[in-house]
Amino acid sequence: MQFCPECKSLMRPIKKNNKTVMGCSCGYTKKDVSKPIVETLEKPKEVEVVSDEETLPITQAECEKCGHKEAYYWLQQTRAGDEPETKFLKCTKCKHTWREYS
Ligand SMILES: [Zn+2]
Ligand SMILES: [Zn+2]
Repeated sequence: MQFCPECKSLMRPIKKNNKTVMGCSCGYTKKDVSKPIVETLEKPKEVEVVSDEETLPITQAECEKCGHKEAYYWLQQTRAGDEPETKFLKCTKCKHTWREYS
């Protein structure tokens, strides 16, 4: 048994466009009941691009440009294997980026 989602009364099969559909006295008709209802998958919403900066750790470093004392940092391998990773710093204030030489 199926009940009308509109008025909650019992629906009965009715003929519509040469097809038997479930209908209700209020006028509600369920679309073609002979086929299984294929739910159209909602397109996944585009993931908001989170700027890399927000995920970077912050360290205490003085920016040579604006004198700010906090900077994001990350490590980057510049050459294949034989060299240690280079530490890059980016001022949290003016976005000035520089590398730290060890
Ligand atoms: Zn109804
Ligand atoms: Zn700065």
